[in-house]
Amino acid sequence: MTRILLAPAGYGKTQFVIEQIRAILAGEPLSPVIVIVPNSIQAAGFRQRLCVSGGALGVDVHTFHTLYAEMLIRAGQPIPLLLDSVRIQLLRDIVDDLYKRGAMTHFAALRDKPGFIALLRNSIEELKRARITPDLFSDSVKGLGARLEEVAFVYSAYQDWLQKQNWADNEGRGWLAAIALASNPNLFADTRFLAVSGFDEFNPTQLAVLSLLAKRAKETVITLTGDIQNPNRSAHHRFHRAQAAIVSSLNIQPEAMESSSMLSSQIADVESSLFDDVIASGAKQSLVNGGLLHREEHPPRNDIEFVEAQTRAVEARAALRWVKARIVRDRMKLSDVAILARDLEPYRPFLEETAAEFGIPLRIVGGQPLSENPAIAAVMSLLSLPANDWTSRTLIDAWRSPYFDFSEQGIDSNFAATLDEISRTGHVSQGLSQWREAFEMWEKKKAMADEDGEMFGSIADNEHIKEKFESFVDLLTPPNRALIKEYVAFVESLIGDDMTSPNENGLNIVVNARANQSTAERDIAALSAFKDVLRGLVLAESVLDSDLLEYADFYKYLRGAVDSATFTVPAESGVFVASVLDGRGLSFEAVVLMGLSEGEFPKQEREDILLRESDRAALHLETKLHGDEATFFYQAITRGRQRLLLTRPYLAEDGQAWEPSPFWAEINRRSGDQSTVRVRGDVRLADSAEAASQVEWVESARDFDIHIKNGIEVLRARMSPKAKGIYEGDTSTGSVQGLDLSERFGASHGWSASRLESYGTCPFEFFVAHALELEPREEAEEGFDVRMLGSMLHKILEVVYNGEELTEAAEKVFATAPQDYGFRPTALWTQQQAELLRVLEKTIAELDKISQGYTPRKMEARFGMGEPSLVLHTSAGEVRLHGYIDRLDVAEDGSLRVIDYKAGSAAISATHLKEGRRLQLPIYAMAARDALGLGEVSSGFYWHIQKAEASSLKLEKFEGGVEAAFAVAVAHIGKHVTGIRAGHFEPKPPVEGCPSYCPAVAFCWRYKK
Ligand code: SF4
Repeated sequence: MTRILLAPAGYGKTQFVIEQIRAILAGEPLSPVIVIVPNSIQAAGFRQRLCVSGGALGVDVHTFHTLYAEMLIRAGQPIPLLLDSVRIQLLRDIVDDLYKRGAMTHFAALRDKPGFIALLRNSIEELKRARITPDLFSDSVKGLGARLEEVAFVYSAYQDWLQKQNWADNEGRGWLAAIALASNPNLFADTRFLAVSGFDEFNPTQLAVLSLLAKRAKETVITLTGDIQNPNRSAHHRFHRAQAAIVSSLNIQPEAMESSSMLSSQIADVESSLFDDVIASGAKQSLVNGGLLHREEHPPRNDIEFVEAQTRAVEARAALRWVKARIVRDRMKLSDVAILARDLEPYRPFLEETAAEFGIPLRIVGGQPLSENPAIAAVMSLLSLPANDWTSRTLIDAWRSPYFDFSEQGIDSNFAATLDEISRTGHVSQGLSQWREAFEMWEKKKAMADEDGEMFGSIADNEHIKEKFESFVDLLTPPNRALIKEYVAFVESLIGDDMTSPNENGLNIVVNARANQSTAERDIAALSAFKDVLRGLVLAESVLDSDLLEYADFYKYLRGAVDSATFTVPAESGVFVASVLDGRGLSFEAVVLMGLSEGEFPKQEREDILLRESDRAALHLETKLHGDEATFFYQAITRGRQRLLLTRPYLAEDGQAWEPSPFWAEINRRSGDQSTVRVRGDVRLADSAEAASQVEWVESARDFDIHIKNGIEVLRARMSPKAKGIYEGDTSTGSVQGLDLSERFGASHGWSASRLESYGTCPFEFFVAHALELEPREEAEEGFDVRMLGSMLHKILEVVYNGEELTEAAEKVFATAPQDYGFRPTALWTQQQAELLRVLEKTIAELDKISQGYTPRKMEARFGMGEPSLVLHTSAGEVRLHGYIDRLDVAEDGSLRVIDYKAGSAAISATHLKEGRRLQLPIYAMAARDALGLGEVSSGFYWHIQKAEASSLKLEKFEGGVEAAFAVAVAHIGKHVTGIRAGHFEPKPPVEGCPSYCPAVAFCWRYKK
């Protein structure tokens, strides 16, 4: 006897099947019972419910795929299953072969694009499900154009290969199982009870197998969602098709299942009327009272709640806070609660992060994309290096990665900073030749000093970095051409042994992944899935008999396999999290349905790009545009028996208002336009009792201990985009750990003019650049920068004033400038040299004009650094200074004139000296007189080389004359040194804007353009 039983969602169809099984087995213990459910998630759910209800020994719970395999085994015709990794590689080989033979032109450009092979696989699966054989498909598409004909070539070649090898895919097993069942009347003839539950669609193979099985089983029950009394409900649209298919296949009319709703009264009300035109309340009542739809009476309460959240992140937090309340307050088990979304992917990271904060374990269905796991992303980046010509950013990131142990190569993450500097010095984008050139440039740069004698670059420990780089390259260099299994061995040797403590083999990736307890479980699961992917590639190669290939091709295959793989973190119990489609057929006490904003749910249906709608009509294939979204929504909101929370984001990522989905409006209307809770971006809650984690509790607290209160204030101040208050930039209380500034910049410290000017210009810039020794992170650019330009021009002027002719001097300096100053010349280098020569001609001519009566005395005169230092007596005590004086001239009266060359064009006035921002000129003048003992100074100015003019600041014209300028400088130097030693570093953006070379530009809250 076969029965098709219909009942709406939430009316206990699964429970009914379980009770039937238990009743039969109570009378006939161990008699064969088969249950078929749509997928492995539902199979696991069914087994669990069966267990909870008292167990039922010997019940076989199958999906159609596992049932096909079982049938073939029982028929004595087992056939190996084609694994997905082998299938992908097989299809790729077929496509490559067709392309090489000129038989693939329409898809030639797409053939190696990500996703194309998966599309082909899905289309073939669909054709097989519809029982359209390769021959039938080829005949049907003949003359319909290259697009369909090329799909037919691939399908035929794929099926030929399977038959030759005597392998089958899941759908092929279905065909064979149907044949075996038809030709062997004894197969499954002993079935006592066959139950089919939870389906909302059937394909032709399933129907064929089912109709044969149903005839053999003593009793068959097929439960479907539907309503005998209301057969055209739009919410049941998808179920109607399944019902029509099974009715016509089995030739049996459905009947109503005697049952009552297990949903709460409010959810049941919505279930019964969703998407229906308004039914007169009297008619609805009589339907309920009429006996077919028995409903348990409950006192009215808020079983359906609505939350609108500012963003998806806030929405995930609100959802999980509600989930935690169900677990803690309503005492539900973790497995009683579920979170669903039409598309789970945008919510996954927010749910994972917040669930970890709240301490709620999640069971995320469908696995997480393998390529998004940080350990796998790091491994794939590392493996991409030889395939992508050693790109600089990827290589530096690899050296910094916590997943790799390069101790055998002597590399630790500190070397990455040096390597970064080298790549920027050498303007490396990619290629080992660029890297090797960059090391030479770096060696030169290390030996360069600025005009004050301060060395460039602050990273000292780099002595063997080139050797370390070369040993890293050796380690990462794969064989030239090899088999996949050889490349896999190479990758596995890099990953290292799966040990708990480091050993000498490989990069100890597994050991490093284990080291971080908070991520270890996740990363180990991902690495294990990655190894499965590698095994799949080796298996595919051995089955497909592949040729040697280049590493770049191997990397491409591996990338494709990783991109389509997922991994699952093992969780014994947890809150079920799934897409709406994966949650179908399951039942929970409480459910959150997320993402009910426009465009999210209902999701827009799209035409298949390989088998278009017009092709489908011609081939009698099912349309892809079923309009099933309303049914999916109906299925989603009926998963929770007692409580339902509906959430949606109300702002899109671009900050624009995001309208609610029409489904949101529909359910809100059905629930009597209930009030909606709006949740904004901050964590702060109106009531601390609502807090679901320590973070939320602290954030929501009002009356705390003073220490916690102060802590919260400090945290808020730090997180505020605008700093304020008297302590801004003040490190004097010792809050900057490990920086004893008074000692470091004490009496024996040698100062340069530029360091003191840096403090005078902006104390915070000094702190970042010289106390913390951070350097600006400029991306490598071709050509010279202003510092290199200054060095070149200074050098040429020095040579010229030592007696050489300008053109010759310039030619000599320019010839070796790229190597000497460490830059990669641009295509404009020749024109730039001519332009710089013109600038120098003009500047020398103008300097000559104002040098009548002066004789050059010294160029690049050094003080300090082996020569006597300038020692000034300031308010901070003795201060020692060093530097290079660009040029000293002697006037006819024997007094000195100091000139300092500037390559930049920023104007320098007396105000700069008065404000303590420009101190170099008086320092150099005092050094010439006091440190070098060259005589009294009567004049001094900055010379702007490019403008060929002197600065408006001139020592002799300073208010009070040269001695007054010296006194002002000494006073500022005392103040600056005192401020530095005391730890006062308040940011003061210069009025003309912050200099681009300030290393704090990217993060300073006072930055001014
Ligand atoms: S960005 Fe401006 S205000 Fe900030 S430290 Fe640099 S120079 Fe000073």
